[in-house]
Amino acid sequence: MPVHSMLVSRRAFLGQATAGAVAGFVAVKGGSAGEENPNSFALLADTHIPGDPDTTARDTNMTANLRQVVGEVIAHRPKLSGVIVNGDCAYLKGLPGDYKNLASVVQPLSEAGLPLHLTMGNHDNRQALYGALADQQKAAAVIESKHISVLETPKANWFLLDSLFQTDVVTGELGSQQREWLAQALDARANKPAILVAHHNPQWEPNANGGWTGLKDAKALFDLIASRKQVKAYIYGHSHNWQLSKAGNIHLVNLPPVAYVFAADRPNGWVQATAQDQGLRLQLHCVDTSHPQHGQTAELAWS
Ligand SMILES: [Zn+2]
Repeated sequence: MPVHSMLVSRRAFLGQATAGAVAGFVAVKGGSAGEENPNSFALLADTHIPGDPDTTARDTNMTANLRQVVGEVIAHRPKLSGVIVNGDCAYLKGLPGDYKNLASVVQPLSEAGLPLHLTMGNHDNRQALYGALADQQKAAAVIESKHISVLETPKANWFLLDSLFQTDVVTGELGSQQREWLAQALDARANKPAILVAHHNPQWEPNANGGWTGLKDAKALFDLIASRKQVKAYIYGHSHNWQLSKAGNIHLVNLPPVAYVFAADRPNGWVQATAQDQGLRLQLHCVDTSHPQHGQTAELAWS
């Protein structure tokens, strides 16, 4: 289940992180060197890494894009405490070869001492992931067959959820068991802002044809968090469309894809997210640094 590479090298939280790994919880404290920000993560989504590094889709080499982003993230290393890839890590069918290639591309993060946390998207496969990145599998699963973890940082708790319903089926679902767990996990951490991270966009009602392309149980999830005022944001990917919006008081952050975009003018890349006392600061880093939105920042205020 939970995820994380515990590749913590010179990090002050090594001892605690290792202890927490069994239960799937990671406590991220301030760095001993006084440089890294324990509240700041590189957020990636939709890397869609294929088994063959030369594979392209929509005129994009996904492996090359992720290599570039990994390099940029490492260049920001002093200000980051980890990297989160928010689902669709693998290309289409979550094949073992996809994760083998992924493991090779993210290896420099480990060498740079940056912990890696993955969530599962509709193109992922948990067992294939664990086969290539064994350190992503925890000794004890929070919920059977789901890949979940909680990152406890000084200014916010990050809940990394699992919306993979079935590999290569577009629909997302948390399921009642995971929602019940989340309610309890939130209640146990009511004193600090909570940021939810899952692959699928919220979908409130079925499509015209009755189908679901987003998170099928979004309404149940948002009903659950409505009374839990510590929940401030829901961060997702899936639609490959960088966008900020709100659902009531909850900030919705649609991450850009690292891989291909679905419309030519949209940006791909990654986002640096830094939790502060009163909100979340975001900065977009585009793969194409000449994109007009490259470097764009946003301050999401907690209400
Ligand atoms: Zn995707």
